Amino acid sequence: MDYRGLLEAAEIAARATTGQGQVADYIPALAAADPEAFGMAVATVDGELFGVGDWESPFSIQSVSKLFSLLLALSHGGDGLWRGVGREPSGNPFNSLVQLETEHGIPRNPFINAGALVVTDRLQSLTGDAAGAVREFLRREAGNPLLGTDPVVAASEAEHGHRNAALAHFIASHGNLENPVEDVLDHYYAHCAIAASCRDLVLAGSVLARYGVRADGSRMMSRSEAKRVNAVLVTCGTYDAAGEFAFRVGLPGKSGVGGGILAILPGRAAVCAWGPRLDQAGNSVAAVAALDAMTTLSGFSIF
Ligand code: GLN
Repeated sequence: MDYRGLLEAAEIAARATTGQGQVADYIPALAAADPEAFGMAVATVDGELFGVGDWESPFSIQSVSKLFSLLLALSHGGDGLWRGVGREPSGNPFNSLVQLETEHGIPRNPFINAGALVVTDRLQSLTGDAAGAVREFLRREAGNPLLGTDPVVAASEAEHGHRNAALAHFIASHGNLENPVEDVLDHYYAHCAIAASCRDLVLAGSVLARYGVRADGSRMMSRSEAKRVNAVLVTCGTYDAAGEFAFRVGLPGKSGVGGGILAILPGRAAVCAWGPRLDQAGNSVAAVAALDAMTTLSGFSIF
């Protein structure tokens, strides 16, 4: 497969979206991102690495971190996690509060904010340092000891985090948090505010392309568990646009409001595209266009 040619074609498709969408500013520190930045990388299960554009520039990974907190919580704690968080698409914005009331504080899935807060809480119980566990995992898999939380973004999230605080308190009122709300929020903001590049994310995401096997060859989770995470990514990884993402891209993927999308070609490769301008659902316009072009040209799809 000519990955370099595919990346070049994907970059052309992404650049054609210039001017569309808005950089996230509800977390004020994110508004500093260059709206025209674009990068994309592929890491194959055979150890090849390709990139175009700003593929080595760090950006705020935001909700892409929810994939790694989930993988870590499952690998440390196993299936028990699913008692506190569901596996159904929410059909609502990623930061919505509405379903929590009727569904007794059990969030729909681990990739909306409510569900990610429960995952962060369980990871905190299991490791004593949820954000540190996510950072360490990313550093090791990416071979990048410099990767870390951007303190300015984390502080900005905390300062403007009324909605996440409301979600966490509501979940706690239903007895679905094991740790103090303030600790859960601090660790959640700290892992969302990690700065990493497309290069870092494809190397770390490869664990799912290898069905649960880490870069050093050790098994993080069973093949079946890895397949299940890919399934939840397909149905819930891009929020209430998961149907559109499946239609256009056809891969399991996780987006974040920093403009990154990490997608998995199971058994083949991990792909990450990044462009800070977002559509209405909070997914990067350029990254969706790039992934759409790549899978359309190559025929890659899980369908
Ligand atoms: N940290 C962000 C928030 O809690 C993550 C949102 C996202 O990337 N969708 O709002």
